[in-house]
Amino acid sequence: MEKRQEIYRGKAKTVYATDDPDLLWLTFRNDATAFDGEKKAQLDRKGEVNNKINAFIMGKLEAAGIRTHLVRRLSDTESLVRKLTMIPVECVVRNVVAGSMSKRLGIPEGKALPTPVFEFFYKSDALHDPMINDAHIEVLGWATKDEIAEMKALTFRVNDVLTPLFADAGITLVDYKLEFGKYRGEMLLGDEFTPDGCRLWDSKTQEKMDKDRFRRDLGNVIEMYMEVARRIGVVL
Ligand code: ADP
Ligand code: UDP
Repeated sequence: MEKRQEIYRGKAKTVYATDDPDLLWLTFRNDATAFDGEKKAQLDRKGEVNNKINAFIMGKLEAAGIRTHLVRRLSDTESLVRKLTMIPVECVVRNVVAGSMSKRLGIPEGKALPTPVFEFFYKSDALHDPMINDAHIEVLGWATKDEIAEMKALTFRVNDVLTPLFADAGITLVDYKLEFGKYRGEMLLGDEFTPDGCRLWDSKTQEKMDKDRFRRDLGNVIEMYMEVARRIGVVL
């Protein structure tokens, strides 16, 4: 497999073409960003820790029958993935109130929800990822009714796999964001599952173990990502 030209440089990963038109080469960088890229830093080992956590989680999801874009991890910071036609929405599931749900609805962070809540956001830094609903997605032609239903069902299935996986490691999966795309007619989970895109709280102490440590200047960001990795069994 050969790495070819850079296609896209995102906030945390760089996407390269390969000699196979169906495959992309993802590099996880050490860049950390928050607030739509307004806050930026370089965190030593972030690329490696996220790449390894992501490959581990995607492997667990595949084992549970959820199809993902991951082909294989290539190195400490690189992975080979199927090239998807991305659907420009973020699928969020919340088990516990935090972040924008807490702010928007005035509910204190930490309230456990009786059943998981699903939310769609439009992926646009310029518009600050506005919340949208199924009708927006359908009428704007981003996905069909069936594809919307499929993204929701898959996002909930991910919850059924990952909530117990983290709970067994003494971690509460508070909320997370997924991105999907189409590959030869099939809906696959794309992008990443790492502490950058979810909230993970220590089940006993409620200590934050995710990107909120960076957003809120709590320190020890990568130390905590590494603790998450250690607890779920990722070899660093
Ligand atoms: P952002 O675009 O939010 O700054 P990243 O730095 O993570 O995010 O960049 C990775 C980009 O690659 C994202 O825009 C994501 O939607 C896209 N992407 C992730 N997986 C795939 C894939 N398998 N095929 C095509 N694009 C992908
Ligand atoms: N999230 C993300 N990327 C985004 C927006 C949200 O990964 O562009 C994740 C975020 O880390 C959290 C979940 O989605 O785990 C819900 O985020 P929320 O809506 O609370 O927004 P926030 O307050 O984190 O910006």
